[in-house]
Parts: sequence; C-alpha cells; structure tokens
Amino acid sequence: MNASPPTNEAQRLEALREYQVLDTPPEQSFDDLALLAAAVCQTPIALVSLVDDKRQWFKSAIGIDATEMTREVAFCAHAILHADEVFEVRDAQADHRFADNPLVTGEPRIRFYAGAPLIAPDGHALGTLCVIDQEPRILTAEQRAALRALSRQVVNQLELRRHTFAAAVEIAERRRAEALLHSQYDQLAASKAETDRLLMLAQRTRRALLSVLEDERQAGQNLRESDERFRQLAENIDEVFWITDPSKEQMLYISPAYERIWGRTRDSIYHSPQQWMESIHTEDRQRVHEAAKTKQGQGEYDEIFRIVRPDGSIRWIHDRAFPVHDSTGTVYRIAGIAEDITERRSLEAQFRQAQKMEALGTLSGGIAHDFNNILGAIIGNVHLLRLDIEPGHPASQSIEEIERASNRAKNLVRQILSFSRQQPQQREVISLTKVVEEVESLLRSTLPAEVVLVKTIGTDMPNVFADATQIHQVILNLCMNAWHALGERDGRIEIQLRKAGIERDSDNNSLVPRLRHGNYACLSVTDNGHGMDTEILERIFEPFFTTKEPGRGTGLGLSVVHGITQAHDGAIRVTSEPGRGTTFQLYFPAIEAEVDVKSPDSQRLQTGTGQRILYLDDESLLSNLAVRMLQRLGYHAEAFSDAATALQMFCADPSRFDLIITDYHMPAMSGIEFAQGIRKARADIPIVLSSGYLTEDVIEKATRVGVTRLLHKPSTLHDFNGLLGELLNQKRP
Ligand code: ADP
Ligand code: MG
Repeated sequence: MNASPPTNEAQRLEALREYQVLDTPPEQSFDDLALLAAAVCQTPIALVSLVDDKRQWFKSAIGIDATEMTREVAFCAHAILHADEVFEVRDAQADHRFADNPLVTGEPRIRFYAGAPLIAPDGHALGTLCVIDQEPRILTAEQRAALRALSRQVVNQLELRRHTFAAAVEIAERRRAEALLHSQYDQLAASKAETDRLLMLAQRTRRALLSVLEDERQAGQNLRESDERFRQLAENIDEVFWITDPSKEQMLYISPAYERIWGRTRDSIYHSPQQWMESIHTEDRQRVHEAAKTKQGQGEYDEIFRIVRPDGSIRWIHDRAFPVHDSTGTVYRIAGIAEDITERRSLEAQFRQAQKMEALGTLSGGIAHDFNNILGAIIGNVHLLRLDIEPGHPASQSIEEIERASNRAKNLVRQILSFSRQQPQQREVISLTKVVEEVESLLRSTLPAEVVLVKTIGTDMPNVFADATQIHQVILNLCMNAWHALGERDGRIEIQLRKAGIERDSDNNSLVPRLRHGNYACLSVTDNGHGMDTEILERIFEPFFTTKEPGRGTGLGLSVVHGITQAHDGAIRVTSEPGRGTTFQLYFPAIEAEVDVKSPDSQRLQTGTGQRILYLDDESLLSNLAVRMLQRLGYHAEAFSDAATALQMFCADPSRFDLIITDYHMPAMSGIEFAQGIRKARADIPIVLSSGYLTEDVIEKATRVGVTRLLHKPSTLHDFNGLLGELLNQKRP
C-alpha cells in the first residue's frame, strides 16, 4: 500500500531542495551516523533516506547496494507522515500494508523496518534515518530513543552542510566576484589602454576635425567676408553694379546706386527689366539697344548714353558689361557696371572752357590795348564827323555804316575783355527791373516790327548786388540770340523777371548748375525759335562755339553770359527743344539792401565853360581826338603824348590846369607814376585815369596814388560830358 503524501508536500519538497543534497556524493559524516544507527539497533542495513517527489534517495546506505528507490515502495514515505515518532514495522509479511511490497516479497526481503523522521528546523520531514532487517524484530525503548537522537544529528549534519555549502557558495561567489572583478579590472586595464589609445585617436581626430572645421570656418569666414566685401562694394560704390541673364528677361541683381542715379526704385526694375531700355534717352536708345545685343556677349560693350529720370532731368551714363560663362563655356550671365558721368562731363566742359578762356585772356590782354585805341579813334572821329555834317548830307549813310560797324567791333572787344575778366565788376545794389527796362527800350528800336517783344515783371522783386552794365550785356546777348533763333518767321521774345525761392540745394549738372537754397531774382528770356538739340545745348557756353554763319556769330555771347552770371554768384538753366524754342533762366541771389538812388546824369552836351584840361596819351591819334571832343563840350584841352614833358609843364605852373586826364599804358612813364607826380605838385586837382582794361590791380594802384576817377577807353562824347560835368561842377561853390 502506497503512503499518501504529507499535507504540505510542496513546501516540504521546496525545503528539501534548499539543502542541495540530492544526488551529491557520499559523505563520511552521514555514513558514520548510519553506521551508528545500524550498530545501536543491531540491524544489517541502515539508510539516510531523503524522500523526493518520485523517489527516495540515499545520502548514505549501509548494508545495501542502492542509491535510490521509487517512492511507491518506500517504507520511508510512511515514516515521514509520523513526524514525532519512530515508524516501526515489526514483521512486514504479517503487516497488510507491506505484505505484497516488492521489497518484502523480493530482494532485499525486508521483514523489519524502523525509521526516525529527519525533521528540519522549520518542521518539515525531509526523509528518515532508518534501520532494516530480514528478520522480524522489536526495538527496545533505548534503541528507539537512540535512533531518534541520531536522526536529529543527521538533520544537524544537513544543516551544517547547508551552511557550509552556503558559505562555500558565498566564498565561491566571492571568488567568482573577485575573479570577475579581476577580470573586469584587467578588462578595465586593457580597456584603459584601449581607451587611452582611443582617446589619443579621438584627440587626433578632434584636432584634425577642428582644423578642418577651422579651415571650413575660415573658408566660410572668407566666403562671408568676400560676400560681405562684395555686398559692401556693390552697395556702397557710386556705380551701379548689375547682373542680368543674357536674354535680359530678368534683372538678377542691381546695386542701390541705381535708385540714386536713375531716380527709380530697384523693385521697379526687378519687376520690369525693360525699364532699363525705357529709361534711356530716345536719341540714344536704338544705339544702346544694338550694342547690348551684339557687344555684351563678347565683352566689348562700352557705351555712353543719356537717361531720363522720372522728373525729366537727364544724366549721362557710362555703361560697361562683360559676359559670365558657365563650365561649358556658355554665357549665362551678363554683369555690368554703370557710372554716372554727368558731373565729370560738366567738369570737363568747364575745364575746356577755362582753358579757352585763359588762352583768350592772354590773347585779348595783348591786343586789347592797341585795338581799343584804334577803335576809340574811329568811333570818336565818326561821332565828331556826324555832328559836323548836315542831316541829309550824301555822306550821312556811310557815316552811319561806319558807326554801326565800329560799334559792333567795340562790342566785340568789350565781350572779349569782360569774358577774359579784364574788365572789373562794378557791383552795387541795383534793381534788375530798371536794367530790363533799359534793354527793352533799346531792343524795341533795334528789333524788326514783326518780332513781338513781351516783358513781364513780377511784383515784389528783390534787389541784387550786380554790375548793371554787365547785366545789361547779358540780357542783350540773350535777346540777340533769341532774335537770331527766330529766323525768318514771326516770332516772340519774352523777357521775364520774377522772384524765385529755391527750397533745397540742387545737384550740379551742366544744364542745371548747383543752386543753394534761398531767394533769387530770376531773369528769363524765352523765344519760340528753332531751339536746340542736346548736342548743341551741351556746347553753347563754350567760347567760340557758334552755329551761325561767319559774320553773324562769334560764339562769345553765351560765354560772356556764363562768365558774368558766375561772377555774380548766379546760375543758368536752359531748356530747349528743336522746333519749339528756348528758355534761358538766370538766377541772381536776392539781397535785402535798398537801391542807392543817384540823380540821373544830365545828358545835355556841352557842360564845359572853358575849364582847362591836360590830356595825356602816348597815342596821338587818341589825344588829338580827345582834345577835339573836349573842345566841343566847351572845355579848353591841351594834348600831350609824352608824360615827362607834360609833368614838367604842369609842375612849372600847377594852376595852369583844372583837370588832368591820363592814359594808363604808356611806354616810359605809366599813368600811375604820372598821377603821382601831379598829386605831389598839387593835391586838389582832379585826376582821371583812362584805360582800355581796368584790372583790380590798376584800380588798387590808382586809388593809392590819389586818382580821382577811372574812365574806360575808348571814351565817347557822352562819357566825357558826364564825368567832367560831375567833377568840375562839384568844384563850384
Ligand atoms: P553766337 O550767338 O555768336 O553764335 P553764342 O555764344 O551767343 O554765340 O551762342 C552760341 C550758340 O548757341 C549759337 O550759335 C546757337 O547755336 C545757340 N543758341 C544760343 N541761343 C539760342 C537760342 N535762343 N535759340 C537757339 N539756339 C541758340
Ligand atoms: Mg550770340
């Protein structure tokens, strides 16, 4: 009969396993206890049996050659059910539980069994210490007690073994851990070496990387710098830098200077690239268009043209371009640079003009004296002649012709002189209105009746600080040009005077010169004549530039206008269109001062009452003429052509003359020296210094030696009349 398992079988098996004793080799200590049990109980067989799940396993087997048996047949499986007593079968054959047990019916033919359970400290019965015999028996009480005692020793031994084992395990563990530690340490050491190597490698890599990065950074920096340099260059240069595709369908880049020079936004040209061509002056557009088509791709494009800004002003552009090729050699970009050369052109023009003026100045300085004297003699004599002959005399017409021709010659000399600045300015506070009115009356008598002359004068005209004679000449020159421009057709000339306020400083430009902000008197002369194209317009201020046939034009008129205007701190603006007419606008700075009103000269000829005049000029032609003129005016004049003689004569009797007139340019003694001698002899006598070109230098010297007045040569009857009347009449009480 099989024993049923104990109630807590699972835990019991668990407890048994913890001893880790099953299937381990025999041990002396257990064998000793088994031997003792056999000896005490006087049986041939003793076992230390551990009851496993399906078997009983013998840690020690005395008197039997077995290590395990199935649990089904095990007596011990019964014994462990009785924890606190020795399980004793006195005769198995007679016991119904075991009579047919194979161990009873067959080998080892068990008749007697006594097993003391092995009770672990936690109460589980692990197995038994049992004794077996092939004879029926009965244990004594002492034997039974001894068997129990020995079974406790087995448990002690198991416990001990377990602890030892645990310790061993621990030691082993520790060893293993140590070994592990060692090996880890070794690994660590090895890996440290490896790490060091790696570290070094890493450092080297890092360095390499850093240097690559640095290179890259440097390259990037270089790129950025060159980018930045490009940007700075492109954005700040005065030139317009531009890039297009070869078809010109898009503007890929255009630098900000475009906005300043073209007066248009960059956005607008990005948006419509054809704006580039559209902004070019119509007269230049076709040429530039052709050049762009043919020359840009070849790198030969180099054009100068005009652009018209939205406000109508014109700028001169120098534009160059070159192709940019891709790796296959195809042109895929056109890059160009456009420069505003307006100012340079005007400076060049000014420079050319200055050079011409200088040449002219030298030239005129040399001839003016002689030429003026000759002219003076002609004019003076003709004047006298006209006074002498009766009106209607056959010679009258010839005399008029001579007079007209010599007046033109005189005008020309004056132009040359004032142009070469050999004529000093006599600026004072004047009203331009008066000058305009004078010129107007002169023009009315000169211009043919078909020409309509209109004069408009604005109210509230400011005064200007100007030389009235020069302004007179300016207006006259402009009106003469206007008249010439009218040609055969009926025309109209308008002289206008108005007050103009300039709000901000304007740009310099050949046609619109720099004007500072402020108030101006603006004098304009407008005609509806043939006008000018830009080519002519560009050159009109050049001395000797004329489009007129010889005899009609000298090319000096506008040079003089220009020179005088500049000398007056003024500026000129010209607008003209072929077939439409021309307007010249002259700006003279306004001043606050009031006009110094002088009583008009009496133009009554013959103011003299026999006063005695000494007239000195090395040119006897002139001195003789002058004497005749002075006599006609009622003076008593004596002519001298040698300064020394004249001075001697005067010093001999200083009261012999009432007034002295002397030429400035004389060979032996200058007019200044002569005046000095006279002044020494007599302090109160009026001295008049006469000269063809009065320079600042002459005026300065004259003032220093006490010259009373200066007189322009050649002098007319009226000149003498006005001056002498003034000087000699003042002397009267
Ligand atoms: P000139 O009158 O002797 O030719 P100017 O210096 O006065 O010399 O003028 C230079 C040129 O300017 C003239 O030859 C003419 O071509 C042009 N010009 C000047 N004023 C006018 C005008 N009002 N209309 C058309 N052309 C003009
Ligand atoms: Mg002229």
